Amino acid sequence: MSGFDCDLFVIGGGSGGVRAARRAAQHGARVVLAEAAALGGTCVNVGCIPKKLYSYAAHFAHDFADAAGFGWDLPPARFDWQRLKRNRAAEIARLNGVYEALLRDAGVELVRGWATLLDGHAVQVATGAGDRRWRAAHILLATGATPSVPRFPGCELVLTSDQMFDLEPFPRRLVVVGGGYIACEFASIFRGLGAGVTLLYRGGQVLRGFDDDVRRFIAQELAKNGVDLRLHSTVASVARTGGSLAVTLEQGDVLAADAVLYATGRVPNVAGLGLDAAGVAVGAHGNIVVDEGFRSSTPSVFAVGDVSSHLQLTPVALAEAMVVVDRLFGDGGRRMDYALVPTAVFTHPNIGTVGLTEQQARERHGEPRIFLSEFRALRHTLGGGSERTLMKLVVDAQNDRVLGLHMVGPDAGEIVQGFAVAMRAGATKNLFDSTLGIHPTAAEEFVTMR
Ligand code: FAD
Ligand code: NDP
Repeated sequence: MSGFDCDLFVIGGGSGGVRAARRAAQHGARVVLAEAAALGGTCVNVGCIPKKLYSYAAHFAHDFADAAGFGWDLPPARFDWQRLKRNRAAEIARLNGVYEALLRDAGVELVRGWATLLDGHAVQVATGAGDRRWRAAHILLATGATPSVPRFPGCELVLTSDQMFDLEPFPRRLVVVGGGYIACEFASIFRGLGAGVTLLYRGGQVLRGFDDDVRRFIAQELAKNGVDLRLHSTVASVARTGGSLAVTLEQGDVLAADAVLYATGRVPNVAGLGLDAAGVAVGAHGNIVVDEGFRSSTPSVFAVGDVSSHLQLTPVALAEAMVVVDRLFGDGGRRMDYALVPTAVFTHPNIGTVGLTEQQARERHGEPRIFLSEFRALRHTLGGGSERTLMKLVVDAQNDRVLGLHMVGPDAGEIVQGFAVAMRAGATKNLFDSTLGIHPTAAEEFVTMR
């Protein structure tokens, strides 16, 4: 477009921003992307990827424990936190380079520095070599979110997930506050790596929003693995006492900890972005308000991912980015569909879920048919572990459609991904029943439940 330095200026080089920049450039658009920190954003640097690597690391503890029953005698396992951190850092640095190469190969101009909107078409970036300005036909905000910690006495002493990956030294006693994805995943991970973990949740059961059977089941499994899960627990204060921290609960107990992780949600990154100058409106939770095409209150400015979305997941940010680019530079046929977004929680064991909970199904479709199976997987028979697996189908009693599919068990995320396709295709319970199982697997239970 004439009169502009570029067709699309993307602020943020994380999941949503990089995808949008690359796709727009592939459509022939002139694209500039500004990133203030490491390329890849939350997911690559302090989210999905390092978290999953640490989850794998933690899982070895379970495998070592099971090995004897399968005939393996092993020397006592010794965990080296420094080596895990070093290897993780090297892999993340490699991925940072991959992201940079992807942008370069697509023809995107990458600018390092903090970007600010000057108006609906102008962006200023504070680079190491001074401020630079661009005029852009369209601007995409993909600035992500940041951990949010409530204010209370001693809140400056607690950590967020951002600091957990490089923690020094390894925390022998960890207190985790929250009951969502991050709290449950990090409690599992650090327990698996050998820490004593107390998980404090203010409500009656962790993972609000998930199916109640899943919530009950994972709470039992966390406890079996040695996580000290305390429900209805609220922190009054944290104080330093000698070499450790004293966590005082409103319920009266005082816990000694080496580190306290607050995993109490994430807030959109909008501060210092110049939204007022550009007339971009934010909603009640600080999120950028967008329409179904991800256009903000300023027509030339768009927003995707954690900064605007109610679902803070990488595949959601990627899909939203594709919609924006398709509408601006493609044929415009793409729409975002938030129904049936599959998701996994990488606890031990994993949770995988897609579709409605039993409660949601009841509210929207009347009394559902429920198929529930809890069992000890073959894998654990010789290993001697007490871990159990849960599988649940929520079925519309009127038309036999599978409305919800839930699993707690090894590789639940891997298993549920495939079933999510079937559910999007409108699979009925009858279709599940007519599908042959793969024997012997845990996944076959989904097609043999009667
Ligand atoms: P981000 O990836 O956060 O990217 C935003 C980028 O914008 C950042 O790089 C930031 O530096 C940059 N930026 C911000 N402001 C400016 C500015 N003014 N100028 C220049 N640059 C700026 N999701 C999953 O699907 N699966 C998982 O297993 C998973 N695990 C997670 C684990 C943890 C611990 C966390 C915290 C999150 C996890 N998520 C997971 C969520 C996922 O990481 C996010 O939903 C996803 O990264 C959001 O992408 P985004 O593009 O919106 O933002
Ligand atoms: P979540 O929103 O998932 O959970 C926040 C938790 O903190 C809830 O249990 C909430 O309780 C509790 N909480 C909120 N405020 C307070 C407070 N003031 N005091 C005590 N407890 C509080 O956020 P997370 O930080 O765990 O993760 C952020 C997002 O990142 C997730 O929602 C998810 O979208 C994404 N993510 C995805 C992962 C994956 O896909 N595997 C992994 C990690 C993160 P209550 O329920 O009572 O409100």
